[in-house]
Amino acid sequence: MFPTDPISNLAALIRCPSVTPDEGGALTALETMLAPLGFTVDRVVAKEAGTPDIENLYARLGTEGPHLMFAGHTDVVPVGDEAAWSHPPFSAAIAGGEMYGRGAVDMKGGIACFVAAVARHIEKHGRPKGSISFLITGDEEGPAINGTVKLLEWAAQKGERWDACLVGEPTNPESLGDMIKIGRRGSLSGRIIVHGVQGHAAYPHLADNPVRGILQLAQALMDPAFDNGTEDFQPSNLEVTTIDVGNPAVNVIPAKATAAFNIRFNDSWTAESLKAEIVARLDRAAKDETLRPGRQPVKYDIVWNERPSHVFLTRNNALIDSLSGAIEAVTGRQPKLSTTGGTSDARFIKDYCPVVEFGLVGQTMHMVDERVAVADLETLTGIYETFVARWFGHAAA
Ligand SMILES: [Zn+2]
Repeated sequence: MFPTDPISNLAALIRCPSVTPDEGGALTALETMLAPLGFTVDRVVAKEAGTPDIENLYARLGTEGPHLMFAGHTDVVPVGDEAAWSHPPFSAAIAGGEMYGRGAVDMKGGIACFVAAVARHIEKHGRPKGSISFLITGDEEGPAINGTVKLLEWAAQKGERWDACLVGEPTNPESLGDMIKIGRRGSLSGRIIVHGVQGHAAYPHLADNPVRGILQLAQALMDPAFDNGTEDFQPSNLEVTTIDVGNPAVNVIPAKATAAFNIRFNDSWTAESLKAEIVARLDRAAKDETLRPGRQPVKYDIVWNERPSHVFLTRNNALIDSLSGAIEAVTGRQPKLSTTGGTSDARFIKDYCPVVEFGLVGQTMHMVDERVAVADLETLTGIYETFVARWFGHAAA
């Protein structure tokens, strides 16, 4: 049977308790939907020492180009306090026009709608002239080591190439049609360790208080602003997220102080240029004598988080116009093209093909009583179906 109904597709997916790293039956449920449509389905297990094995899914319909990829994840975050839910989190209960369940919007709902959209497209027009694939991971909400990155590498190694990708994460703040994500800010984190000399608080000249040093360095990280934003991005922003001394004694000057920070940065920086700017600021602040008159520069080390997320911006008109036009045709609303919010797996996909993100309304994601308006499932399916037709039409033109 063709999986043309997004509501029953989503119910089947929600009923699989696929909390990361458990597959929970969700990929099997998806495979059951895709097989009758003619997709060739591969289940790819990714392993890495120190992390749980993760099952992922790659499915392709067609052998020719152009090739459109839909990407997403079937894993979900834990339910939290199950007793606090109005309906059991893996029951897919419908009440008041909404379907309840963990993953309803983030993002089993997006997958359910895209499957229904492809099924309807095939039912009406036959197979598209080109290929459609699903790249679905079970490790987005967890460490994201055995997920999209490895699945992309696996597929690319066996010769898969894509022309465009749509990620079905929830992107709308209030209602369907608000927002397409066409890029994401980068993210970089680090930790600063200031080394002082321990001593008696009454004899500070015999000691070197690292608290004075860490305050100077932290100040320099936050002021002045890194930039004023760009045409497509909001200003880069750094937050000092913790300052730790852990000193239980008020009359002892401690030997060490540490601080951690995270910066979300726009396309006026790369992770590398930003690191250089941060080190330059810290070196200048280390020599500042405001809080440490007559002292040698602050002695500090900086440790960078190993895996920064790189900033990206998609400028592919066929992709953006097809999606934006489909949203307008179905909802009558013109979506905002945005680069706000946190990172997503799109940051990995952008290395292979142009990528945009559009899915459900994100309001209840990760919350107790995560739920989706049943009407939205029908609307999103309509948008995806129109998008598929327009994108292949565009590619053929
Ligand atoms: Zn998600």
